[in-house]
Amino acid sequence: MPPGYTTRGERGQSGQDFMMATTSTPTTLLTGVHAQDHIHLIIGANPLAATRCGQSLAAGAKPIVVAPESSDVHYTLQKRIDAGEVKWLGRKFDEQDLFTLGREEAGKVVDAVFVTSGPRDPENAKISSTCRLNRIPLNIIDSSSLSTFTLLSTHSDGPLQIGVTTNGKGCKLASRIRREIASTLPPNLGVACERFGQARRRIHEEDRLAHAALENPEPVEFDADDTVDQSSSFNKLVLEQDLDAAKTRRIRWLSQVCEYWPLKRLAEINDQDVESVLRAYTSSSSSSPTTVPKTVPSSPKLGKLILAGSGPGHPDLLTRATHKAILSADIILADKLVPSGVLSLVPRRTPVTIARKFPGNADAAQEEFLALALQGVRSGKTVLRLKQGDPYLYGRGGEEYAFFASRGLEKAVAVLPGVTSALSAPLFATIPATQRDVADQVLICTGTGKKGKPPAPPEFVSSRTVVFLMALHRIEGLVKELTTPLPSEQLEAGGGEEGEEGEEGEEEEEEEKKTPPARPLWPLSTPCAVVERASCPDQRVIRTTLAHVHEAIESEGSRPPGLLVVGKACEALTQMEKGRMWAVEDGFGGIDIGEEIALESV
Ligand code: SAH
Repeated sequence: MPPGYTTRGERGQSGQDFMMATTSTPTTLLTGVHAQDHIHLIIGANPLAATRCGQSLAAGAKPIVVAPESSDVHYTLQKRIDAGEVKWLGRKFDEQDLFTLGREEAGKVVDAVFVTSGPRDPENAKISSTCRLNRIPLNIIDSSSLSTFTLLSTHSDGPLQIGVTTNGKGCKLASRIRREIASTLPPNLGVACERFGQARRRIHEEDRLAHAALENPEPVEFDADDTVDQSSSFNKLVLEQDLDAAKTRRIRWLSQVCEYWPLKRLAEINDQDVESVLRAYTSSSSSSPTTVPKTVPSSPKLGKLILAGSGPGHPDLLTRATHKAILSADIILADKLVPSGVLSLVPRRTPVTIARKFPGNADAAQEEFLALALQGVRSGKTVLRLKQGDPYLYGRGGEEYAFFASRGLEKAVAVLPGVTSALSAPLFATIPATQRDVADQVLICTGTGKKGKPPAPPEFVSSRTVVFLMALHRIEGLVKELTTPLPSEQLEAGGGEEGEEGEEGEEEEEEEKKTPPARPLWPLSTPCAVVERASCPDQRVIRTTLAHVHEAIESEGSRPPGLLVVGKACEALTQMEKGRMWAVEDGFGGIDIGEEIALESV
């Protein structure tokens, strides 16, 4: 099994299901401790004690340092002592300190102990047993066996904290990994987290005020600023459902932004972005943020619309034509699924707008984009409509072409194909869509029909590979539709038989029994695979069968976007171990063969 792969869902001997990770050594429970005003007892006065004091103060705790008067106090620690930030007890540690120096409300027991001298100190075993007995969290440097908690190698940027631990396998390595992770982050991410928090608070506050206004017809107190910028719908009757719908839309916008915007763009989120979402979704009537303008200022020269697919995720899967379009466009209108690796190729000067497409707002977002694209083209700009995968495969690309064609603008539109996730995701999951003697046809379908209705399920053909896009959120229903007759089919079958019995002779009835069911059903044992974020660094493949795919997703959680591949092809090149219900493969092997070889030979 390739490194980094874990297998789960194994059926145990007892018949009970259990999860299995690659290593049997338990990991630790990572938590963030609210340590405001906690008393941290730090034993020692060396440079490490100084570092611990810094960490403790950063968490809002109150460190007390205990070390003999004769100790060589590290100068940064001395500075903190002199400044009154750290309390200093110039004597040897006494076990009673654990129970007398703490907060009143904690019964004077200290909140945590940090021992800064090495594991060979004979005192440490004693401290460890006393702390364990009294449930006092204890950390002893370089001694995980005597400690009850370890500290992570951390990166902090405002409210954002990233912690790394190798669970005692190497703190230098943890620090290197932490640095590597931090170096890939855009600057100002901490500020972005702060802004996000503010946006969430504002949304909640506005919702609270709106509900208060609804419940209490008396005028509610608004800030002076709230009276400006009132929309024309200000005096409209607002119902409870309108408010709830608007609230849901705003919260969804925020969560979709978190999920899909490239981190670089997220880090640049500004007050204007937050304002625009608050204004755009203040009432249900404004759920269509921009409607197509009837008259658009025209320019002597018509621009161009390039409708292009950006592939499944990895920027190397862009076509050269689309790459050129990215570099030369005046404006880019990107779908929310367009991967950040692709967006990072956009020149800094080019404005990029990302669609506010989320469940319930897809049509409004689409309209908004069509309006912007039309505006751009009519004012002589080259507008790139960047879509994920291929633009004509469940990308509404055809509709966009038709929109322009209906305005006599088809000559201004160029359509560029893209590598579709429907075929590349199975490939990156080692699933050949067709394979001699295994699968001789491929069907690509959607799991979600128009207006959220389930589309007609495809019939079982043993040599068929079916790829379902937009299906994972309703996997349970989909599996049911594939494997059991629909209620309408049951009725049809039942009604038909009755009719035949009454009207036809016995011979005819025999004939009827031999007729295969209207829609052949998929056996529950059919192999299938969930492929998520194909070609992205966090690609994940879950191999299973129709019988267990729902349970597997429930248990592993989702990592959108993802699709489902069904059919024998799923085990043409890889096979799950017998008895296993599902297996998870995490990570993307990469595309650059040269690079891989170079790495392997190091
Ligand atoms: N035009 C796109 C499909 C758009 S529909 C294409 O040709 O690929 C969006 C669906 O595509 C998602 O719900 C998911 O099912 C699938 N999808 C898109 N990117 C994917 C990826 N990198 N890995 C797995 N599935 C993906």
